[in-house]
Amino acid sequence: MRLFSVFQVCRVVCAGGVALFAAGAAAIAAEAPKLAVVISVDQFRGDYLARFGPYFGEGGFKRLLAGGLNFSNCHYRHSVMLTAPGHASILSGTFANVHGVTSNEWLDRATWEQVNSVEDKASPLVGIAPAELGAAAAAAPAKTGRSPANFKAETVGDELKKKFGAGTRIFAASNKDRSAILLGGGRGDAAYWDENGRFVTSRHFRPTGELPEWVKAFNAEGRAEKAFGRVWDRLLPEAVYEKAQGPDNAPGETDAAGLGTMFPRRIDGGKKAISSAYYTAYDNSPFTTEALGEFVRRAVTEEKLGRNTGTDLLCVSFSQIDTVGHNYGPDSHEVMDSVLRLDRVLAGLLDTLDREVGLARCVIVLTADHGVVPLPERTSRTDPATGAARVRTTEMDAAARKALDARFGALPTGEAWFTRDNAGVHLRPTALAAKKADATEAATLVKQAFATMPFVAEVFTRAELLAAGAEGETPLAMMRRSYRAASDRDVVYTLKPWFIAKAGSGSGHGQPYPYDQHVAMLWFGAGVPRGERTERVHVDQLAPTLAALLGVPAPAAAKSPRMF
Ligand SMILES: [Zn+2]
Repeated sequence: MRLFSVFQVCRVVCAGGVALFAAGAAAIAAEAPKLAVVISVDQFRGDYLARFGPYFGEGGFKRLLAGGLNFSNCHYRHSVMLTAPGHASILSGTFANVHGVTSNEWLDRATWEQVNSVEDKASPLVGIAPAELGAAAAAAPAKTGRSPANFKAETVGDELKKKFGAGTRIFAASNKDRSAILLGGGRGDAAYWDENGRFVTSRHFRPTGELPEWVKAFNAEGRAEKAFGRVWDRLLPEAVYEKAQGPDNAPGETDAAGLGTMFPRRIDGGKKAISSAYYTAYDNSPFTTEALGEFVRRAVTEEKLGRNTGTDLLCVSFSQIDTVGHNYGPDSHEVMDSVLRLDRVLAGLLDTLDREVGLARCVIVLTADHGVVPLPERTSRTDPATGAARVRTTEMDAAARKALDARFGALPTGEAWFTRDNAGVHLRPTALAAKKADATEAATLVKQAFATMPFVAEVFTRAELLAAGAEGETPLAMMRRSYRAASDRDVVYTLKPWFIAKAGSGSGHGQPYPYDQHVAMLWFGAGVPRGERTERVHVDQLAPTLAALLGVPAPAAAKSPRMF
């Protein structure tokens, strides 16, 4: 109503289109919502809303689609399509070359140790003891500390903090630590994720070392434990899934966590009592999505989100679809059923938001961190010309070693020229020194060896990446945006489309192709027009668009234009 009257006044007073646009932007700011809700669905490909749309219920995705704006052709513009870089880009509007989060974990060149993207030794976990997270965590408890310390860009949340200070609350939750922490950003008030079915955080967010009473009470309700032995079956008749996705037990599916490859399955970890295997099985089941949905609904009430003096920010990232996508691929009954169950969870969340805040006072955006490649067993059957296959990186490494040995002299058995780090390598300074080898020449030899592999698409050396611009849509520019100049690898590469570097079974993501880069982008709520838009847009436009809707400046590194 108020927005309308501002336009009316402007039409009378000023005749120019530019002035009209300026008044429109002011009107959006005047109507700033009370709560922004950013929903990420891990591995939610851009085709899923259309593919599973006929099977949605009334209150979830359908409600957002009917009342919102669906960008059906939205893509990422960086190369390394993984969870941490995706979540770091969503609210910063920039890429790893700026925000520093190149991967889920990476090799630290100073210590030659693997570092988690949200690792912070100064910020121990709160709500769980490291020893409960398994043998590796028990052996190195400091490495379980978590915070946004490695995330170097500002987000829309930071802009809200600058404007409203204590008058805004930034709350993030996910099944994964990195997804919650990176969405919440550097000034986030709270980030929770689930470990062994409990929602936990770190000292960065809770310096007292205590969970809030409401989180303790929520955990004490024991949702994960109550789900022990629950059977996960399809919501709809099997024939519906067959028609949409093909057979349940397709070649290439993984029998992970004792769950088999077919419905129905009992969620118990293959044991008679609760064990660590059970929690892995639980993480694979949609019951973990239901628990996160309930946790977030509880948070809206307990944290009084949307009832602050400024605009609050709620970030939530659902992880389970990624887990089943890895095990069974995008064309599985498991992924379809997980999406349909998420649809029900979303319906519950929207009901809570409507009741507690009012949907007209919220702006909601739903997107994803990356997509997923179909199982190569399927692609090689439906499209044999692709040559889709599973490949082994050991073959590449052997070729590179051979080339380096031939040029500089063979290293003793048991010593290595390089250490692998994601899809690339760091040359070992000790090996280079021992053989008086020049790092740039060695990197070029590794590149040439990798490039001889029939499944490798592009190989770039550090020197090539540092000389490249981060603008444009070439494979080099996309990799440059995924590359951290100060401390990244000596050689990086991409696979040819449809190939997967995973032996045996299962699927994955991480490549600069539409099946990984095309993701959902669905807007709803205050200031959002209705409809579908089919022109190509990019995820890095989300941050400036949301900032404008909330009446705050775009984060400093978010340089892309708004989506609408
Ligand atoms: Zn994944």
